[in-house]
Amino acid sequence: MKRYSVAVWYGDAPEPEYFECHAESEEDAVVQASRAYPSADIGTVEIESCQWFAKCENEATCTTRHPIFGDIPTCERCHKFATS
Ligand SMILES: [Zn+2]
Repeated sequence: MKRYSVAVWYGDAPEPEYFECHAESEEDAVVQASRAYPSADIGTVEIESCQWFAKCENEATCTTRHPIFGDIPTCERCHKFATS
């Protein structure tokens, strides 16, 4: 499972909303986004990268609870580091 960020567009909104989810594939992420936003147009699908460390470029596979920022998309390595 990876973390995906899917842009969803409502009507003529100037900016998309971003639907974030765990999915097996891009197709799966699109299916989840279209269920969550049934009347919106699905835009770009991106794999979220780890945001635990600014220099980490791994793909996020989970989220890790941060005391200030809440749930942060995190790779396995940083998740282990942060929770051990
Ligand atoms: Zn990481």
